[in-house]
Amino acid sequence: MKKIFVLLLLLMSTVVFSETLEKMDYRSGVFTGTLRENKQVSIEAVKGRTSTGAVLILTLPDVRRSAADPRILNDPYLDSVSIMDQGNGLKIYFFLKDGTDYTVLNSKKEFQVKFNNPNAVSSDSKSKTGDRITGSREKEPVRTPDTTDRRPSSNRKGTYTIVVDPGHGGHDSGAVGNGYREKDLALQIGIKLGKELGKDYNVIMTRTTDVFKTLQERPEIGNVRSADLFVSVHLNSGGNSSASGTEVYYYAKKDADNYSRDVAKFNNTVDSGVAMSDYALKDINYRMNQTRSSALAQDVLDGLLNNFSVRDRGVKNANFAVLRGSNSPSILIELGFVTNYSDVSQFVNDYDQERAAKAIADAIRRHFMK
Ligand SMILES: [Zn+2]
Repeated sequence: MKKIFVLLLLLMSTVVFSETLEKMDYRSGVFTGTLRENKQVSIEAVKGRTSTGAVLILTLPDVRRSAADPRILNDPYLDSVSIMDQGNGLKIYFFLKDGTDYTVLNSKKEFQVKFNNPNAVSSDSKSKTGDRITGSREKEPVRTPDTTDRRPSSNRKGTYTIVVDPGHGGHDSGAVGNGYREKDLALQIGIKLGKELGKDYNVIMTRTTDVFKTLQERPEIGNVRSADLFVSVHLNSGGNSSASGTEVYYYAKKDADNYSRDVAKFNNTVDSGVAMSDYALKDINYRMNQTRSSALAQDVLDGLLNNFSVRDRGVKNANFAVLRGSNSPSILIELGFVTNYSDVSQFVNDYDQERAAKAIADAIRRHFMK
C-alpha cells in the first residue's frame, strides 16, 4: 500500500512538472519557444564544436513537444535547427553559422534565443527592439560570445571543395542495358559535372578514366582534403525494362536500435561536461550532415525532374558504404535506369549530359548559398 502511494506521488510529480512546447518560431535571428502551461522551465545551454562549425545545445528537461521543427532557409545566423526527444525532455540543436553568438532569454510561457552575427549581411536591429517577451522581468540572460569559428563565409572559388565520384569503373561496369554501361555514362556526366562545378569551387574527381576504385577509397579521397561535399553519380538498373525514374540518396545510419543507443551515449557525454568527446563531435557532425545532405538531395532531385522526362522516385536515405565513409555531407544520384530505354536515352549525348551536370551543379550552388 505504501509502495502504491509512493508510486502515485511519483506519477503526480511527473504530471505536475511536465510542460509542453506548443509552438516554435524562428525569424530574423530570434528563436521563440512557446509553452502551453505558462510555467518557466529550466534551460541548460551548452556550446560545442563540430568539424564544420559551432553548435548550441539547449536542454529542456520534462518538456514534451507538440510543435513542428522550424525551417531554416538562407539564414545569416543558422545553418539548421534540429530537435530531439530525450527521455522526458527535449534537446534543441542550433547549428551556428560562422561568427554567430547568442543570448538565451527564459521567462514564463516563452523562451527565446537571440542570435547575433557581425558577419551577417541582413540587419538584426529589428530583433533587438521589436520583440517583447512575456514576463520579461523574470528573464535570465545567458551570454556566450564566440570568436573561434573560422568557417568560410562566401562561396568564392577556392572556398569549398567538392568531390565528384563517377560510379563504378574498370572491371566493374555497373548497370548494363540498351547498349550502354553505367560506368561510361557516369564518367562522362561526372567529368561534365566536375567542369561545371569547377567554375565556382575546388573539385576533386575520384576518377577521370575507366579505372576501378573501391568504395572505401572514394570517400577517403575527399576526407584527406577536408572536402565540403561528396557527390556520387550513378545510373540504376532494374530487373525488368519497365523500372524507371530518378532518385537521390543521402546517407543515414540504418540500425534504429544502435542509433538510439548512440544518441543516448552522445547525450550522456554532453551532460557530463563542456568538453565534448570525439564521439559526441562525430555524432553531432553526422546529425548536421544528414540535415544538409537530405536538403541537398531534394534540391538536386527537383533540378533533374525539372529538366528531364523522368519519373520521380524521391529522396531516400540509405547506409551505402560510399556515403558512409565520407566526413562531409554526401549524396548519391541515380540519374535514371540504364535498363529503361526512355530513361537512359536522355543521358547519352553531350548536350543532355551537360544539362544534367548543370542541373546538379545549380542545386549545389543554391545549397552553398544557404
Ligand atoms: Zn551504380
